[in-house]
Amino acid sequence: MKTLTLRRPDDWHLHLRDGAILQGVIGDTSRHFARAIIMPNLVPPVVTTTDARAYRDRIIAALPNGDRFEPLMTLYLTEHTDPDDVEEGKKSGLITAVKLYPAGATTNSHGGVRDLDKAMPVLERMAKIGLPLCVHGEVTTPDVDIFDREAVFIETVLDPLRKRLPELKITMEHVTTADGIDYIKSSKGNLAGSITTHHLIINRNAILVGGIRPHYYCLPVAKRENHRLALRAAAISGDARFFLGTDSAPHVDPLKECACGCAGIYTSVNTMSCLAHVFEEENALDKLEAFTSLNGPVWYGLKPNEETITLEKRDEPANFPPKRETGAGPITVFDPMFPLHWQVVEK
Ligand SMILES: [Zn+2]
Repeated sequence: MKTLTLRRPDDWHLHLRDGAILQGVIGDTSRHFARAIIMPNLVPPVVTTTDARAYRDRIIAALPNGDRFEPLMTLYLTEHTDPDDVEEGKKSGLITAVKLYPAGATTNSHGGVRDLDKAMPVLERMAKIGLPLCVHGEVTTPDVDIFDREAVFIETVLDPLRKRLPELKITMEHVTTADGIDYIKSSKGNLAGSITTHHLIINRNAILVGGIRPHYYCLPVAKRENHRLALRAAAISGDARFFLGTDSAPHVDPLKECACGCAGIYTSVNTMSCLAHVFEEENALDKLEAFTSLNGPVWYGLKPNEETITLEKRDEPANFPPKRETGAGPITVFDPMFPLHWQVVEK
């Protein structure tokens, strides 16, 4: 039997929600991952250090007994964010990054930033104290095609911001295009990118061919095949600027399976199995640890985890539950559309 032992992975972009969903999904992350950057797009969003501390406490309280897991908290950037509060959050060790959502870009982002000029005092302070900005890299202008929104964001928002404030560390989250990969590779520093599990596996056909499939719909939306291949090449390259951020984003099924379904794919359950499959397919199992466990900590100035996990390739494919049942309703688990033979050995 083939086995693979890695340092315990981290997830550099995760949605845990709150209440009954948090309770129902947290174990799927804490089972395998040591840490995760927690997205702040709750209702209402996590905008102050006080909000983040309270949310962190709720996450810790929801952890299954005995699981060791560290939530790395983020603040939701608004046009009114107080630079002093952000600095205090970093100094206290609570805040790992601040998240920029262009207003309207994804789930619960209507309170996001409309005018970046108004957020400049906070961004300048972050550059000074070395606190990274995580960006949802899509413009929301109605006249820009949804498949072009990442490329247009790079040109009209990200590149000008980086020229204006080169000292600011920026994580371009969930990169979905070859344009994004090329932009990160061509940068001279202070820019890295996270890549999701599902964007390495699906292209836009998964959503649209043979009927509309809401459980493959997420934002940024999956793009053409050439983009998926560019993401794969970056993920397996070992290049320290690319690391895993699953963007696992649970919504209960009734909110996905309706006339205006929510964006988000729930991958926490089987992410490590999916990634081992992808990296083996690319003949790059030796690069998986860099992607899941080494590159992210270096970028965020943290130590890699000392603990390890082991994956085994079994003859019988894994039987992941098709849905995660929660107190708020069922959440469909990502189906990669191929059998998963790699499985994490549960301790
Ligand atoms: Zn997200």
